[in-house]
Amino acid sequence: MKKNMRLVFMGPPGGGKGTQAKILQEKYSWEQISTGDMFRAAIKAQTPLGIKVKEILATGALVPDDVTIALIAEKFDSMPKDQGFILDGFPRTVAQAEALDNLLAERGMRLDAVIDFQVPDEYIVERIAGRYTCAKCSAMYNDKLKPTKIPNVCDECGGSEFIRRPDDNEKVLKSRLDNYRALTALVLPYYEEKGLIKVVDGTGNVDVVTNRIEKVIEN
Ligand code: AMP
Repeated sequence: MKKNMRLVFMGPPGGGKGTQAKILQEKYSWEQISTGDMFRAAIKAQTPLGIKVKEILATGALVPDDVTIALIAEKFDSMPKDQGFILDGFPRTVAQAEALDNLLAERGMRLDAVIDFQVPDEYIVERIAGRYTCAKCSAMYNDKLKPTKIPNVCDECGGSEFIRRPDDNEKVLKSRLDNYRALTALVLPYYEEKGLIKVVDGTGNVDVVTNRIEKVIEN
């Protein structure tokens, strides 16, 4: 597999983008760049950015494009040019996709592929309503689909503190899904035109989905 693969993961909330990005990061050292994780870290640390976006994340609305694009620009500036990466949750609007093209071109880089995770709505609620992560190592779990092997003990690091995202409830999920359908889905035709889209069935167990992704990007 190419060392410095540059990918975008697109798909609905709860579609498995974060889980798969973490697996591929571990396996191939491509860096997962999750704008959602970056915003949550800023909120936790109460930085000026965190204070600005806290309410937006709580309601499931999108953070303004200029703020999000500046965050990604800063991230690219801090990364070696030959670092492979997976953008997870960015771009979410056509304006962000255009800005991303410019940021990459300025740095002499371009995307290898955009993975479109296809997951029907009925899977999404189940995945999101039950998900939680280890506070120490961020390993991801789900009450029904993937609980910890020993109750309240992280399989990976033995940690016993877990976090549930405040926006992972049915009401906010509706707003997140509406945004996905209304805005983010418009990003797909943008990349389709560039011939970058690779469709991946995001249903089924985690390993099966990882294999499907590896297959489409290897081709
Ligand atoms: P995620 O972890 O990707 O589900 O993102 C959580 C929340 O962070 C979203 O519901 C938005 O409020 C915000 N967010 C993350 N990425 C973006 C983005 N690319 N553009 C705007 N808002 C974003």
